[in-house]
Amino acid sequence: MNDCLFCRIVAREIPADVVHETDRTLAFRDVNPQAPTHVLVVPKEHHATAGLLVGADPQLLADVVASAHAVAVQEGLVTDDGAEPGYRLVANTGPAAGQTVHHLHLHVLGGRPLTWPPG
Ligand code: 5GP
Ligand code: ZN
Repeated sequence: MNDCLFCRIVAREIPADVVHETDRTLAFRDVNPQAPTHVLVVPKEHHATAGLLVGADPQLLADVVASAHAVAVQEGLVTDDGAEPGYRLVANTGPAAGQTVHHLHLHVLGGRPLTWPPG
């Protein structure tokens, strides 16, 4: 997967501001942040979408969500057992949702009020 941007970040071929890592996941700051905290959490293994990953390896999707929560706690967006002030997880899937990198990533967004509905 040499042509995949996030595989290359996982391989440390492209630099990134890494904020959290486990044996199977990596979290790094988005290069174009849309909120005071904007972190991308990826599985180290290449899977294109959340739907494909949950079929292939549901535990790995759970690991990605757990890493996203750990990032939110680390960033002060919630306590480990709480939900305030809060944050948003986004997984854009396909062109209609604006997915531009076809390696599953959860956006962790927080640090400002987030309006609903999204654009
Ligand atoms: P998507 O639109 O696929 O849901 O999100 C892709 C995200 O990757 C975008 O928010 C974009 O700013 C971010 N991004 C694109 N290229 C890079 C990069 O080279 N490094 C980092 N850290 N983020 C990137
Ligand atoms: Zn990839």
